[in-house]
Amino acid sequence: MTVRDAAGPAIGELRALQVAIELCYFDVLPLRPRIRWLESYTGYLTRVAQANTISSVDGLSALVFAHQDRRVTRTAADFPPLSFGDLPMLAARPVPVLLRTTFYHLATKFGRSAHPQPLSRFLAGSIYASLRYCPDCLRDTGYYSLTWRFLALPGCVRHGRRLLDICGHCGWPVPLFAAPLRIGICPRCGGDVRTCIAEQLDADKKAVTLSRFYDLVFLLSPRLEIGDDGDSARYVGWRLGYRRRVGGLLARDVAVRLGTSLNQVWGIERGSVVNKGASFATYVAYADLLGLTIRDVFTAPLLPHDMDDVATTEEAADDGEA
Ligand SMILES: [Zn+2]
Ligand SMILES: [Zn+2]
Repeated sequence: MTVRDAAGPAIGELRALQVAIELCYFDVLPLRPRIRWLESYTGYLTRVAQANTISSVDGLSALVFAHQDRRVTRTAADFPPLSFGDLPMLAARPVPVLLRTTFYHLATKFGRSAHPQPLSRFLAGSIYASLRYCPDCLRDTGYYSLTWRFLALPGCVRHGRRLLDICGHCGWPVPLFAAPLRIGICPRCGGDVRTCIAEQLDADKKAVTLSRFYDLVFLLSPRLEIGDDGDSARYVGWRLGYRRRVGGLLARDVAVRLGTSLNQVWGIERGSVVNKGASFATYVAYADLLGLTIRDVFTAPLLPHDMDDVATTEEAADDGEA
């Protein structure tokens, strides 16, 4: 155990106690940072703790999530939590605003459950378990973007540099949410990751970064149009199926090229979310295969005949040939 490990929690909890005494008078945290655009939940919790000089997760947990086992708080990873505890009151941020810091809106757009377990299955292989970051953004803006979690995003859209996925000082992945709860500081070695150097992206990667970034902004934001979220997976399936047929591709070819089963391709095209459904990574790979962005897949206009249930005929033919 290091000196910091031994001292950190005690000091953190002491400060939490101090803050708790102040809370008795005001019912809000002394300092309540505003949530930044596309900020991640774990990053926001870190900034709340840092602003109020709380340095341990247990200290923050005792204060904000008093009715929750602190082991639950320690596993925060940007999935919509089952409870925000007293955070809406103490940070004066309503639940809908806090949900935007999580993967909640992405889940509902695909008609998926926003509960942590099924959502982590849906996102398996698509998100990085530790912090990915742009040192320049951290120096300029001082917060963690939720978009950085996605492996499909190669770089930073503002600075045109590759996102880093390890600490440049100790060489280890940087935990998302851990003592000393300071933005830009590696919890493993205490190094300042804002001083790390990320390589420039080439022109192709910059173009991919820009397109992916807009996709993620769309997916992580609340829906702007009025519609039934329960139907969105079906519309996505229709658009993918329509574009596949226009491109002269058979569903079985798609399955081979995506390395998935034919049933999963039919499931996507029918908008089926039962039996676990396809993963987010498979949707992204399918859209890439057809040269579509994720925005196209959700928003391209559909004509009534595009939505004919040709999948059934094709499926029957496929079964016959098989
Ligand atoms: Zn940046
Ligand atoms: Zn480090």
